[in-house]
Amino acid sequence: MAQGNPEFIWWDGERRRWEDATVHVTELAWSAVGAVFEGIRGYWNEDREELFVFRLAEHLKRLEQSSRIVRLPMKVSQAELTDIIIDLLQVNDVREDTYIRPLVFTANASARNSPSEIQGSLLVNTSTMPSHLLTGKVQHAKVSSWMRISDNVMPPRVKNISNYRNGQLATYEVREDGYDVALMLNAQGKISEAPGACVMMVRDGKLITPDTTSGILESITRDALMVLAREELGVEVQERAVDRTELYMADEVFTCGTAAEITPLVSVDRYKVGSGEPGPLTTQLETLFVNVLRGNEDRWAKWRTPVPLQSSVRA
Ligand code: PMP
Repeated sequence: MAQGNPEFIWWDGERRRWEDATVHVTELAWSAVGAVFEGIRGYWNEDREELFVFRLAEHLKRLEQSSRIVRLPMKVSQAELTDIIIDLLQVNDVREDTYIRPLVFTANASARNSPSEIQGSLLVNTSTMPSHLLTGKVQHAKVSSWMRISDNVMPPRVKNISNYRNGQLATYEVREDGYDVALMLNAQGKISEAPGACVMMVRDGKLITPDTTSGILESITRDALMVLAREELGVEVQERAVDRTELYMADEVFTCGTAAEITPLVSVDRYKVGSGEPGPLTTQLETLFVNVLRGNEDRWAKWRTPVPLQSSVRA
């Protein structure tokens, strides 16, 4: 087993040892272009010695929708995939914050242009991904000159591997220019999202985020934070088109997503956001979110799938 890799991954009907799960090198290219995936997090609760997967059902539903839109058949039901993921976390005896990635790719790339013949191959792997919540991480953002893909070009609401080239171009551009993260405008010139995260801002006490027709992935974190802001903090939430200059005037701006969690943006295009420090609502949401993710409190249990760990399941 290579350093840092789990002992097992799941691939087409069976658990396999990490080093045995290989495809031929000539499969690189079309099989990956035609792949859709999900990125899911498991959070380890040290006190309770329990792992909680965040909003697993919602992620698996989105995977099913992604695969349907690109006409790539999935071989398993959501219930089966739930069991597969829990089994994998158990056999790998995961006791840390973890990223879980189910990926459906084109198994017979030679048939890639014949939708009725395409076969999907499904793999699930897990890897270490420590949370950066409450660590003080902040980023400086720049609006990229690359435009976000749009629904009639490459639908951003599909979690398609190919979509990520668009975000990479933006990332490369802004990193070369000395910034941490890109923000992208859509074809209408409005803010869409970051390459792997959605964007939220606070203006005059309201939480505002681009709506789901702004060229974004329908983010599960974004949804959770909107619910928590409304229901737990009593904050008004608006989903609407957002102008770039609104970010320059905002009191607080942050990105959100499974990997991004909540990441405060302290400047946008070198305009300081608020005081240049993470703002009060962002910090309040971050604290609340940590408790929800880690199961520090019993509320919002419907968003957590507990994974009973037992070292003996490796039968
Ligand atoms: N937008 C893009 C392009 C993403 O890749 C992600 C990460 N999945 C997000 C937004 C955030 O979505 P989620 O909260 O569901 O992870």
